[in-house]
Amino acid sequence: MIIITRPDATEEQIQHIVSRIADWGLRAEVSRGEMRVVIGVIGAEDKIRQKPLGAFPGVESVMPVLKPYKLVSYEFRGTASRVKVGDVVVGSKEVVIMAGPCSVESEDQILSIAQSIRDSGAKILRGGAFKPRTSPYSFQGLGKVGLQLLAEARRESGLPIITEVMDTKDLELVAEYADCLQIGARNMQNFSLLREVGRTQLPVMLKRGMAASIKDLLMSAEYILSEGNFNVLLCERGIRTFETMTRNTLDLNAVPVLKAETHLPVVVDPTHGIGIRDFVPAMALAAVAAGADSIMIEVHNAPEFAKSDGEQSLLPKDFADLVRRVRCVAEAVGRAV
Ligand code: PEP
Ligand code: MN
Repeated sequence: MIIITRPDATEEQIQHIVSRIADWGLRAEVSRGEMRVVIGVIGAEDKIRQKPLGAFPGVESVMPVLKPYKLVSYEFRGTASRVKVGDVVVGSKEVVIMAGPCSVESEDQILSIAQSIRDSGAKILRGGAFKPRTSPYSFQGLGKVGLQLLAEARRESGLPIITEVMDTKDLELVAEYADCLQIGARNMQNFSLLREVGRTQLPVMLKRGMAASIKDLLMSAEYILSEGNFNVLLCERGIRTFETMTRNTLDLNAVPVLKAETHLPVVVDPTHGIGIRDFVPAMALAAVAAGADSIMIEVHNAPEFAKSDGEQSLLPKDFADLVRRVRCVAEAVGRAV
């Protein structure tokens, strides 16, 4: 941690800071410039972070030297991590396409969608059995029956499945079925849930909260890794901005920033990011161009009857067309599908 003092800080104030640092068992490294004095605080960064350094008279600003996240930081591994979902590797040269309906609704629906997306080139099947809905009166998902239908779709299609866990009380049940647990945007800072999934070894896809910064997302991921589970995917799914023409604003800035900051693979969900079916393909292609390791696309065989997110779901034939175009973009940026 570095303390920058005000230009008018007195020698007495500086000595006061230095002696308090020593009282805490930390070391102060004082550097005297022409205009101001800079004090480096040396010791365990975690311990220093808890001290109210900014509260001392004469202090202008306090800057951390190390990042607040450790285990997720790129430097921790020094190389990009790969996460296996079933037999599918996310984080290699291949851009992995996840697809499926927002919610699992019926046997016919999930089996039909699973087969069509697999035939088009998707590698992981998505589908919600526990749905986080803005209104308590909206469809909440089929729960256990939804998980059983997903398992049947996995058997039939051979695709591993990703599904959301909303609550610690459901984790044991969801973990029995899922190949990858999804933590939704609304739960990104549900710290008890993060810790619990961190105690499993199942892959976890953590979605960025709609009002969360990139740093917040990384700090939430740190909770999962700190419990011992390093099988984490980070998902950009759009944030809330002042823009009202789209459901969210897909923050593709997050892709190169995350790739530089962390070793964890990055998934982009353009479907929730823009929320309008016609515009999803453009943002999916942009995500791959920006360096996403995986994209997640909502697909429905009868969107007009969908129980959730029909307006943003692609029809299977449009999904097939999108995969062809994703392949071209992936190849143009040195990846494959
Ligand atoms: C979803 O994937 O269907 C979903 C609810 O996503 P999010 O948590 O990003 O809103
Ligand atoms: Mn959805």
